[in-house]
Amino acid sequence: MKYISTRGGMQSQMFQDVLLEGLAPDGGLAVPESLPIISTQVLEQWRSLSYPELAAEVLSYFVTDINAVDLKSITAAAYNPSLFRSESIVDVRELNDGLYLLGVSEGPTLAFKDIAMQFLGQVFPYVLNARGTTLNILGATSGDTGSAAEYAMRSKPGVAVFMLSPHGRMSAFQRAQMYSLMDENIHNLAVRGVFDEAQDIVKALAGDLDFKQTYRLGAVNSINWARIAAQIVYYFWGWLRSTTGPNQQVSFAVPSGNFGNILSGHIARRMGLPIRRLVLATNENNVLEEFFRTGIYRPRLPAQTHATSSPSMDISRASNFERFVYDLLEGDAAKVKSLWQQLATDGYFDLSAYLDRFERDYGFVAGVSSHENRLSTIRRVFDESGMLIDPHTADGVKVASHYVEPGIPMLVLETALPAKFSETIEQALGRPAPRPPGLEDLESRPQRVVELPCDVASVRDYIKDHAKV
Ligand SMILES: *Cc1c(COP(=O)(O)O)cnc(C)c1O
Repeated sequence: MKYISTRGGMQSQMFQDVLLEGLAPDGGLAVPESLPIISTQVLEQWRSLSYPELAAEVLSYFVTDINAVDLKSITAAAYNPSLFRSESIVDVRELNDGLYLLGVSEGPTLAFKDIAMQFLGQVFPYVLNARGTTLNILGATSGDTGSAAEYAMRSKPGVAVFMLSPHGRMSAFQRAQMYSLMDENIHNLAVRGVFDEAQDIVKALAGDLDFKQTYRLGAVNSINWARIAAQIVYYFWGWLRSTTGPNQQVSFAVPSGNFGNILSGHIARRMGLPIRRLVLATNENNVLEEFFRTGIYRPRLPAQTHATSSPSMDISRASNFERFVYDLLEGDAAKVKSLWQQLATDGYFDLSAYLDRFERDYGFVAGVSSHENRLSTIRRVFDESGMLIDPHTADGVKVASHYVEPGIPMLVLETALPAKFSETIEQALGRPAPRPPGLEDLESRPQRVVELPCDVASVRDYIKDHAKV
């Protein structure tokens, strides 16, 4: 399997290079040159596999420069039941009325990002060791990504993590999750600014090619192809666990922000998995819903982005969306490049000519959910099924309920556990979400964080002094 850029300006590369590279040199994103098709027969043979075994099978199509035996050990280590709250890693639970939850948030940080990050936490050290080098991961987080990355990389050989967070702007739970890690290779840098300013510092340092090379900077943000690949696995798993035979159709509903999670579902569908619909749910920040309704993609500025009670979806520029557009345009990289140029000059582009194909050819439908919808959905689900869902998952359930069809299971991705967003649970139900066992004392654990001024020079100096050599 070789990878090329969505904008056509990259020599084809293998998985390991794409893993370490991040953004393609032409500013585009790495995509497979062509997609593997999984036959009905192969799919049926996968029914008896465990989650780590299935992961090794699915990933073997995308990771052709790691041998099968090693890939199996990598997925076995990443998806070890001791790291997850579910023995099966990901489980499927019935809500009601044809709705199910796909439990992808049973990892160490209670959000679905653990699934991809745990794979990165195994595959990075493997590749770095084979190449005799090290990597300094630099990122910015407003919550879930940073903690998932740090838990996955803690104490891993050859890797250090420098994670910028906006000082004083995360929840007490999120701060405690990240800052309570004492591993020497984990560096929490709280900058005195907002998330976008932290993100700008990361972009400035990663864009300084000299500095990037000298300190071997790497990234784990959602454009990293390895994350997309690892997420494809749970769409196959969800299908296998909710069907009994070949060609039965299943729909998925996905609470979306950067378009990473649902892109993995789109790829699974293109690989032949019988997915009927991919239901994209947004909160009040509905740039993607607007695109699937009108064909016009108009990202918004940080100042126009609402702070909502499903904060991990407060995104108005979906960094993975370019990979979908590339597919929609049937791999016309020149057209993709010109659309993104238009985005830079005009602030939008118009693909309404393709409007009738979103659902017909790709199964995409979309909807919006509001704060009131989240509260009432959390209440309704609890009353009807006794299950507690988090606000992001509630956005998914709300939008999914409009698209349920008789005889077709609708799997809503549970993108976080309620304990992570307990303030909103309290607002909905009048009492906080229960803490998963082992996390009762999280906020009272000692914390390790370095406060820095919000400027490039301060972060640069810190990395120079602490980088893995
Ligand atoms: C990251 C995140 C999302 C959005 O996922 P994308 O891949 O960015 O679309 C939704 N819910 C939760 C809880 C998240 O952490």
